[in-house]
Amino acid sequence: MEPIQPATRSHEIFYAVRDVLLVANEAKSRGMKLYYLNIGDPNQYDFDTPQHLKDAVSKGMETWAHNGYSPSSGIETARDAIRREAHRKGIDNVLDIFVTSGASEAIDISLTALCNPGDNVLCPTPGYPLYSAILAKLNVEYRPYYLVEENNWAPDANEIAKLIDDRTRAIVLINPNNPTGSLYSRQTLERIVEMALDHNIVVFADEIYDKLLMDGLQHTSIASLSQNLPCITFNGLSKGYIAPGWRIGWGIVSGPEARMKDYVDAINKFLRARLCASHPMQFAIAPALDGQHDFLEAAKAKLQRRRDLSVKKLSEIPGITVVKPTGAFYSFPQLHIEGEDEDWVKGLIRTTGVVVVHGSGFGQKPGTKHFRFVFLPDEETLNTAFTLIDQFQRQWLAGKKF
Ligand code: PLP
Repeated sequence: MEPIQPATRSHEIFYAVRDVLLVANEAKSRGMKLYYLNIGDPNQYDFDTPQHLKDAVSKGMETWAHNGYSPSSGIETARDAIRREAHRKGIDNVLDIFVTSGASEAIDISLTALCNPGDNVLCPTPGYPLYSAILAKLNVEYRPYYLVEENNWAPDANEIAKLIDDRTRAIVLINPNNPTGSLYSRQTLERIVEMALDHNIVVFADEIYDKLLMDGLQHTSIASLSQNLPCITFNGLSKGYIAPGWRIGWGIVSGPEARMKDYVDAINKFLRARLCASHPMQFAIAPALDGQHDFLEAAKAKLQRRRDLSVKKLSEIPGITVVKPTGAFYSFPQLHIEGEDEDWVKGLIRTTGVVVVHGSGFGQKPGTKHFRFVFLPDEETLNTAFTLIDQFQRQWLAGKKF
C-alpha cells in the first residue's frame, strides 16, 4: 500500500533545537558523555519551580470542580492577577486577557485570528522558530527582519519600515530575545511604536523572558509606550517562574478599542473552540504574579555568574566573538570559520559531546555563522564544555575535517 502522505505544509516546519538531539543521541549511544548546552528549560538544570506555586496547584486540584474545564479565557483570579501585572508594567489600556497552554498557544491563536493566506508578518531574525512554524501552517509569509549584531542585536526600525507592504499584518518583537539574550532599549522600542503606528500594524510583544534580566537592568513593555498601539503582549509561567512543563501562558490585548474589537472577537472564537488551558495549573498564576519573588533574585544571581563565566571563556577562544547577553539565558556567539555552522555543531557534538544549536536553525544574516548555547548548566559543566569547544575550534581553524 502507498505510504500516507503528510501535508505539504509540514515540509516547512523546522525545529533545530530538537534536530541536534538526533546527533547527540547517536553520540550517546556510542558511549560519549554529553554536555547539554542546548535546552531552554531551566528545570533540566539546577533550577526548580518555587514551592508556593506547587502548593497552589495541589490546592487547586483538591476542589473537584477545578479539575473540570475552566472558562475559555481562564479563571477570573488569574486574569485579575494578569491585569494587575499589566498595570505594574504600565499597560493600562487593556482590552482583553486570555490564559493559554503556554505562551505558544497564545501566539498561535493570535496569529491565526489575524492573518489570511498571502499576508506577511515581520519576524526577528535570528528568532524563536515557533513563529515560522505557525506561519507555515497558516500559509502566511515569514518575512525576516535582521537584528543588528553590531548594535547589541537591536532591531533597526528604519530597515523594518522598508519591509512593510500592504499585506503586512504584524511585527513580532521578542524582548528579551531568544536566541541572542539581548534586551531592547526604550529608545529602540519607541522607534518600533512609531513605525507600527505609521503603518497600522499589530505588535506581538513576546516578553516571556522579561523577569530574567541581569546587571540590574529594567524591562520596558512596548505596550506601555502608547495607548494607541494595537498590541498583544505574551508571557507565562515557563521561564520567569520556572514552570515550563505546566504549560501556562497568556496574552494581554491592548490598544484602541474601536480598532481592536473585531480582532478580539475573532481571538475569542478560537479560544472557545479549544475549550481551555489546564484548569488546576491556572491556580498558580495569581500567587506567582502577586507573591514573593525571592527565588527569582537567587536564580538571576546564579544566571549572571554563569553568563560572566561563559563570556570570559568564549573571549579566550580564537575565531569566536560574542555580544554579552543581558536577558534570558541564551547567548549567540559568532563563528568566524570556513564552512557551515551546522557542520561545525554536528562535528562538535560527535567529537566532544558538547551539545549546542547551529545559528542557521534560528535564521541569521546571510553569510554569518553562529551557534546558540544556554548558560543554565552549573559552572563545572560550563568550564568543561568551553575547554572542549576551545580544543575543537582550534582543530577546525587548522583545517581538520570532522
Ligand atoms: N517565546 C519564546 C521567545 C521562547 O523562547 C519560548 C520557549 O522557549 C516560548 C515563547 C514558548 O513559551 P511557552 O513555554 O510559554 O509556550
